[in-house]
Amino acid sequence: MEENDRGERDITDRLYGGGSEHRLLQEMLLGIGGVRAVRTYCRLTGHPEPEVFHTNEGHAGFLGLERIHELTGADADFDTALEAVRAGTVFTTHTPVPAGIDRFDRELVARHFGPGAELPRLDVADILRLGMETYPGGEPNLFNMAVMGLRLGSRANGVSTLHGAVSREMFAGLWPGFDPEEVPITSVTNGVHAPTWVAPEVQALGARDLPDVDAGDLWGLRRTLRGQLVDEVRRRLYASWRQRGAATAELGWIDDVLDPDVLTVGFARRVPSYKRLTLMLRDRDRLMELLLHPERPIQIVVAGKAHPADDGGKRLIQELVRFTDDPRVRHRIVFLPDYGMAMAQKLYPGCDVWLNNPLRPLEACGTSGMKAALNGGLNLSVLDGWWDEWFEPDFGWAIPTADGAATDDDRRDDLEAAALYDLLERRVAPRFYDRGPDGLPDRWIEMVRRTLTRLGPKVLAVRMVREYVEELYAPAARAHRALDGTAAGELAAWKARVRAAWPRVAVDVTWRRRRRAPPPSWAPRSPCGSGSTWGS
Ligand SMILES: *Cc1c(COP(=O)(O)O)cnc(C)c1O
Repeated sequence: MEENDRGERDITDRLYGGGSEHRLLQEMLLGIGGVRAVRTYCRLTGHPEPEVFHTNEGHAGFLGLERIHELTGADADFDTALEAVRAGTVFTTHTPVPAGIDRFDRELVARHFGPGAELPRLDVADILRLGMETYPGGEPNLFNMAVMGLRLGSRANGVSTLHGAVSREMFAGLWPGFDPEEVPITSVTNGVHAPTWVAPEVQALGARDLPDVDAGDLWGLRRTLRGQLVDEVRRRLYASWRQRGAATAELGWIDDVLDPDVLTVGFARRVPSYKRLTLMLRDRDRLMELLLHPERPIQIVVAGKAHPADDGGKRLIQELVRFTDDPRVRHRIVFLPDYGMAMAQKLYPGCDVWLNNPLRPLEACGTSGMKAALNGGLNLSVLDGWWDEWFEPDFGWAIPTADGAATDDDRRDDLEAAALYDLLERRVAPRFYDRGPDGLPDRWIEMVRRTLTRLGPKVLAVRMVREYVEELYAPAARAHRALDGTAAGELAAWKARVRAAWPRVAVDVTWRRRRRAPPPSWAPRSPCGSGSTWGS
């Protein structure tokens, strides 16, 4: 806005790639400014004030500080305000990849809070305490936004069952003395928004009773969607080659790129290294054989987008582009630049198989495979994220992994790529090309049908939202209401008293002669097996 000065306007000039301070200012604007925007909206419209705030990852985490600041204006001390705010805060951790978590120099954070800064009533020391990595291996000089999120939220979750377990391990240090299974981080598996991601043709079919749709009709629909994808790919490829400076006369070959009757594999990614964009290139000869197989060829559509600051990701894209430029295979494998939502909407419905090969367990959930499934695409994926939870042989294939084994990354890529080629050659392609007397691949069509009818309902965003409401938002709202007025102060005081007294609590192991009768024979044995603690 014109009335903001230059420094203020620069805060929102780009999403990624500014320095650490730029990022911190963005997150202050998002968290602190976000709460103020919501308050203003409620005041102007009469909308009820929210009771629960949900922060996805740490980026908006400063909203907790803004709310504490609001309450300290009404005479509460920091710890009392913290209890009230915590009760109504839900935190979702989104990634086990360390680069996905924002960490700032303590000094930098200290400089932007405190007297004369945006939240003047808050003591900088109280703020810094919230983000400190007080666990073995933690960095004493860094302020960790996820750590603050977990301390500001009374309820926390990961985004798939597996990611919940990984997060409990990852953050166990914040709950010293607890076993990882007892760390209070639960999970709600992500879902996707059907009206956005289901192709209109599939939606129309859904109106009829899917289990009874004629196999021929279902196959006809898949053919239509594949055909639309082929047209779309040719259009985009043409535009992209023109942009690379090619003349129209050189681009006749694009008319023969992809074939609407060939098994089509999709793979579209942002390209952080754990997603392994180029795993399929591990053995180029093998890949080429699959693409050019005389009876059972496959064709692959790859789309990608690198983080502007990620040179490694850009290199991976170049490597892939070089392979797809090879005249021997360019009709069977294409790379589409600038992966975005508009492209994704065209891409998912037309693919027969959706490929996903992250380094397990680094894909917290993954959602592109869900979007493919909603359109009858079968998944071919490492058992990571949501696929670890809902994989069934009726819905696709699981790529075996070498995680956990003592193999180095190179060897692991070799093993997992070989497993991928084997699956494509021996399982996926035969099932697609084996036709019955009516010319239809009956078993494939059955998998499509089961994916639509049985997997489809699970991957929906409405299922996810219902779980958030029932398991996290409603309990948080009740806790928040219970901590009105004096209760938050009492809770804070009780915690302070217990914490102060805790070092003086001891378990007295002195053995004394038991005066009571021995336990009855049916009594459970104590965990240590001696029975000596019965009744004590
Ligand atoms: C769904 C989607 C993603 C996320 O896909 P993942 O499987 O979670 O990697 C990324 N970009 C676009 C454009 C999408 O539609």
